[in-house]
Amino acid sequence: MIVTRFAPSPNGYLHLGHALSAMTGFRAARPDGRFLLRIEDIDTARARPEFEKAIFEDLAWLGLTWRVPVRRQSEHVADYEAALARLESMGLTYPCFCTRKDIAAEIARSPAAPHGPEGALYPGICRHLSDGERRRRIEAGEKFAIRLDVARAVAMTGPLGWSDRLRGQVAADPASLGDVVLARKDIPTSYHLAVTVDDALQGVTLVTRGEDLFHATHIHRLLQELLQLPVPDYWHHRLIRDAGGMRLAKSKGAPALRDLRAAGMTTAEARALVD
Ligand code: GLU
Repeated sequence: MIVTRFAPSPNGYLHLGHALSAMTGFRAARPDGRFLLRIEDIDTARARPEFEKAIFEDLAWLGLTWRVPVRRQSEHVADYEAALARLESMGLTYPCFCTRKDIAAEIARSPAAPHGPEGALYPGICRHLSDGERRRRIEAGEKFAIRLDVARAVAMTGPLGWSDRLRGQVAADPASLGDVVLARKDIPTSYHLAVTVDDALQGVTLVTRGEDLFHATHIHRLLQELLQLPVPDYWHHRLIRDAGGMRLAKSKGAPALRDLRAAGMTTAEARALVD
């Protein structure tokens, strides 16, 4: 049975790009699969109840239905902590005390700093700290994130890949994202860890999301292998772009579904735009 999900972050109103994502998952689960909804609200500083409420309203307006209960990430922190503890016990993580400024300065100092699909990679400053130095800084109360030692992890798993509906068989290249953050300084988890754990716990068999998140799958596939989780198929769908060719984004002022609705757009018209 196909199980899909739509996993918005309640930090803004949904726009047509979200509608396409939700519709892709909804349609892929038809006629007899399950379509789930997950609220990705681990970033408690940005998540707001009114945005969450609007997600339900907008999806209902689009004519979508989903299985209950809805999983709200902020209620499942213990699941992410357990996964993190497992990776820690495998010796695959390290504390990172760097600020954004430290990282930018280090990258500026080394012009050959490796870059990945999402920009310059973490230059590994804290990977080389001694155990004593780590202990000293933790005891001194310095804030730290937890990073994955990706080279060590890849050495443990060997080559990996996944099956992508549009791109076929894809070879995973987790090192292309560098030592990603598994737990942020302010939050006991991260997007990569929470998504991977949740997709497994919710029994998702087909992850449908925009191709802007294609690269994230390199890391998710690695985390699945390390945590011995089932491997879903993926469908990284096209993105909706504005007249200037830019991907729709809340931050760039893309019209919200609720604005289109208020301006008189019908459900049928909205659905036709994301067909
Ligand atoms: N929460 C993510 C977002 O709103 C999507 C996560 C995913 O589909 O994997 O961009």
